[in-house]
Amino acid sequence: MTSDNAETLKALLPVEAAGRLQSLRVADGRATLVLDAGGLREDQRTALEAEVTAALKGTAGISEVRVAMMGERSAPQRRGPRIIAVGSGKGGVGKSTVAANLAVALARLGYKAGLVDADIYGPSQARLLGAEGTRPQAREKQLLPVESRWGVPFLSMAQLVEPGQAIAWRGPMAGNALVQMLEGDWSGVDVLVVDLPPGTGDIQLTMLQRFKPEGAVIVSTPQDLALIDATRAVSLFEKGGVPIVGMIENMAGYACPHCGEISDPFGAGGAQTAADEMGVAFLGRIPLDIAIRRESDAGTPPAAGDGPQAEAFATLAGALAAWLAER
Ligand code: ADP
Repeated sequence: MTSDNAETLKALLPVEAAGRLQSLRVADGRATLVLDAGGLREDQRTALEAEVTAALKGTAGISEVRVAMMGERSAPQRRGPRIIAVGSGKGGVGKSTVAANLAVALARLGYKAGLVDADIYGPSQARLLGAEGTRPQAREKQLLPVESRWGVPFLSMAQLVEPGQAIAWRGPMAGNALVQMLEGDWSGVDVLVVDLPPGTGDIQLTMLQRFKPEGAVIVSTPQDLALIDATRAVSLFEKGGVPIVGMIENMAGYACPHCGEISDPFGAGGAQTAADEMGVAFLGRIPLDIAIRRESDAGTPPAAGDGPQAEAFATLAGALAAWLAER
C-alpha cells in the first residue's frame, strides 16, 4: 500500500534529507518529495537531490523520483508570483474544483499560494473556499486579495459584479477584470493559481498576451470527447509558448461511498494515454467521489481535510511543486 511504501522510503533517506523532509508521496511508481532547503547553496541543493534520487530510485517499485526544494535560495528574486494557469477543453470537468484544491494543497506544502477565478461562465471560487459574499478592498486602484480560511488569498470575477447580476460580459470587460485581478496586490504570494474559463477564448488569449503563465495544468475527464477538447487546450498554451506542467484526470473512477472501492464507469487511463500521445506529463487522477462534491459545495475544500481526497490533491500539488522546483 502507498502509506507503507512511503514509510519504507523514508527509512532509506540520507540523514540530511530525512531531517529536511516536509512531505513524501508515492503514486504510480513515482515518489515526490518536498524538502526544506532553507540556507542551502545551489550546489548543496543539487547534491542533496542527487543523493535522494540515488537512495530511492529502483527500491520498493520506485522508477521516478521528483524532489521539490522549498525555502529561500540565493538566486535572484523573481518579480511577482509564479503564475500557473488551470485550463480545460470544456466545462463541467471539475477544473474549478481542481484549481481550488490545488491551491489549498500547495499552501499545506508550505507555499504561499493565491487563487484568481477568471472563469466568467461560472465563477465559483468564493463558494469553493467558503467565502461567498466577500468583496475585495482596493488601495490606489489596486485590488487587495481576500483572505480565505485555508491560507489562500483570492480574487474572483464574481466579486467584481453586483450580487445577482448576470455575468454576461463581452470580451473587453471580462479581459479588463482579468487584468485587474492579476495586477492585484499579490505581494508575498509565491504561486498564483489561475482558474481560466473552459475552452480557448478571449480570456485565455489575454492571459497569454499580458501575463504569460509559467506553466499550464489541463484538467480532463476520462471520456474521449472531453479528451479531444483537452487536446485543443494543450495546443493553445503550447502555441502561446506556455509550457504544459501536465494533465490531470478528474472524475477518474467512481469511489463507492460505502466501501471506498474505485470502479471505472467512464473507462480508465484515457487522460494518461492522451497525455502520452501529446508528449505532456500526466500529473495524476482524482476519483469521482461524492465527498468531493459535498465538501466543495459546503465551502470546505477536501484538500484541507485528511481523507483520501486530501491525499490525492496533495499528490498533485507535490508534482506541481517538483515541476516548479526544476525550473
Ligand atoms: P468546471 O470548473 O470544469 O466547470 P466544477 O469544478 O465547477 O467544473 O465541477 C463541476 C461539478 O462537479 C461540481 O458540482 C463539483 O463539485 C463536481 N466535481 C468536480 N470534481 C469532482 C470529483 N472528483 N468528484 C465529485 N464531484 C466532482
